[in-house]
Amino acid sequence: MIKIKTAEEIELLRESALIVSKTLGMIASEIKPGVTTLHLDKLAEEFIRDHGAEPGFLGLYDFPNTLCMSPNAQVVHGIPNDKPLENGDIISVDCGSLKNGFYGDHAYTFEVGEVDEEVKKLLKVTKESLYLGIRELRAGNRVGDVGFAIQNYTESFGYGVVRELVGHGLGRKMHEDPEMPNYGRRGRGKKLKNGMVVAIEPMINMGTHRINQLRDGWTILTADGKPSAHFEHDIAIINGKPELLSTFKYIYEALGIESDEEEEFRQ
Ligand code: MG
Ligand code: MG
Repeated sequence: MIKIKTAEEIELLRESALIVSKTLGMIASEIKPGVTTLHLDKLAEEFIRDHGAEPGFLGLYDFPNTLCMSPNAQVVHGIPNDKPLENGDIISVDCGSLKNGFYGDHAYTFEVGEVDEEVKKLLKVTKESLYLGIRELRAGNRVGDVGFAIQNYTESFGYGVVRELVGHGLGRKMHEDPEMPNYGRRGRGKKLKNGMVVAIEPMINMGTHRINQLRDGWTILTADGKPSAHFEHDIAIINGKPELLSTFKYIYEALGIESDEEEEFRQ
């Protein structure tokens, strides 16, 4: 069942989302060759608690850490470890928070040092597809319109759209209805309405869309070993239009990137 949020609930969701946004901004300034994902995980946990929230993933479905850290061919749900990041890696960082009973949940794929042009393009296209999907989050549209926009764009580059993992409604639970696949058909699926809050999160592989899972029961990786990217935002539908609750601005401040990509999603 889809839970429609009140204006007050949406403000609480925004608060939780912003804690994740700031955490990812802090992480952005710490990512460099030689740093371990476990070290970054500890920094994130401390940062979230210092901001009066709890890590949203730690213990959720028994996940052991604060961040999902998925380098290179890992798609999502990678477990932080003591292996140092290397120059040329990419690292997808997914972070959750819980404050006032509401969850925040978003993700960004970072470059470590100098990354190949081909991989940079995968990151660029995946992030662009996130915004194409968000643009379809209008009252009266359907879930399939969002998935179609993401799939149509990313497949035009020959990339693979992961099928088994999808975006989702967000609220007092990390994963609420509706499921928001990154693939779909125009005009199909549940109708989008004012007051819905969702996480849109394209997981896009450079090669095949097929994935495998490691024996740790968590880590998802591409079947062909090629890199994968993951970007995620939290969005509310307000006045019929998508409004971003999360922001990448803290990441961009840390990395010295100028961007106006979020402006059309502010009301
Ligand atoms: Mg999510
Ligand atoms: Mg996430």
